[in-house]
Amino acid sequence: MGRSTGVQPMIGFDYVKARDVNDAVSEIARNPNASFIAGGTNLIDLMKEHVAQPRQLIDITDLPLIQIEETAAGGLRIGALVPNSDLAYDERVGRRYPLLSSAILAGASAQLRNMASTGGNLLQRTRCLYFYDTATACNKRQPGSGCGAVEGFNRMNAILGWSEHCIAVHPSDMCVALAVLEATVHVTGPRGSRAIPISEFHRLPGDAPEKDTNLARDELIIAIELPAAGFPRNYTYLKIRDRLSYAFALVSVAVGLELDGGAIKDARIALGGVAHKPWRIPGAEALARGESPHRKVFGKVADAILDGAVGFGHNGFKVELARRAVVRALEQATAGTPQSQSVKAIV
Ligand SMILES: Cc1cc2nc3c(=O)[nH]c(=O)nc-3n(C[C@H](O)[C@H](O)[C@H](O)COP(=O)(O)OP(=O)(O)OC[C@H]3O[C@@H](n4cnc5c(N)ncnc54)[C@H](O)[C@@H]3O)c2cc1C
Ligand code: SF4
Repeated sequence: MGRSTGVQPMIGFDYVKARDVNDAVSEIARNPNASFIAGGTNLIDLMKEHVAQPRQLIDITDLPLIQIEETAAGGLRIGALVPNSDLAYDERVGRRYPLLSSAILAGASAQLRNMASTGGNLLQRTRCLYFYDTATACNKRQPGSGCGAVEGFNRMNAILGWSEHCIAVHPSDMCVALAVLEATVHVTGPRGSRAIPISEFHRLPGDAPEKDTNLARDELIIAIELPAAGFPRNYTYLKIRDRLSYAFALVSVAVGLELDGGAIKDARIALGGVAHKPWRIPGAEALARGESPHRKVFGKVADAILDGAVGFGHNGFKVELARRAVVRALEQATAGTPQSQSVKAIV
């Protein structure tokens, strides 16, 4: 028997290009080991690392899902294939939902954002180091194998909403803004179409960390719908990371405020980089309503959001970092500061 070289064999797969939405859905229903591919910026990396091994790729890039349209309710409907760049720079999005533009532009690089699709961004997988390393245990990659991160190098991992089976975080910036905007995800599949509120789209790991979302394997994301309220005046996306660009969030905070006569009428706050899904605590937001926008109030809100937060050794610093980031983001949003996309972590 020859010695292993450590090189993994190339794995073959079929490739088809879907003609229309019905074709894409029936193709995936036929093949239980198929995956849709859009921009490919996450899936191809996962395939190269042998983390994902689809037997068939269904290319959806020809589907007519690249429009951004007005809705009757005064919002916008964004096709699942709209590139992240086009979405961020759309004039209506920049004017009515600048929080969304800011969050997208805080992510990845210009080249990646040109390729990355809106639907793919929702479904990008965690950046937990052990998920990508097939030589280590990972319940998300291989259910029942254990979790290498709990006692490993967990600097980027969760402080909230984790389970003993998985402490991964969802890495998206866009989704944190969508949580504040209370977007709806429209999907279709062999059993028909449905609308999923963004708060129910991603899930906590519980005892099934292999499932990132409540989307069925054979469902296709068609569009994301934004309601009319976009917090165009008092918003912020604050992303704390190790490098000024091209780095995932250690902690990020999206805030949308509605101020009325010197008091907070409405406050929405979502955190990224801290949990398996964008983290929102409506009870904490309620503490701000009717109050003056002051640091003391923001501190109470931050404490309520971070209630129960726990680190795992390397990421313990995130608890205080997140608390301070929430206070700072609320101050920026109150001041109407257009944006801060370049905050470097000093930890
Ligand atoms: C080096 C690097 C840095 C990055 N930095 C950041 C960052 O800082 N912040 C951030 O938010 N993101 C970051 N990203 C992630 C990037 O935003 C995602 O890879 C991208 O959004 C995925 O979109 P895609 O169209 O390329 O998806 P793909 O790779 O094509 O697909 C991803 C997954 O989504 C599924 N899928 C795609 N479209 C649909 C659909 N319509 N319906 C159903 N399933 C679908 C695919 O089957 C696959 O499972 C980074 C990526 C890289 C490579
Ligand atoms: S935290 Fe989750 S993704 Fe990371 S090693 Fe553990 S099970 Fe895998």
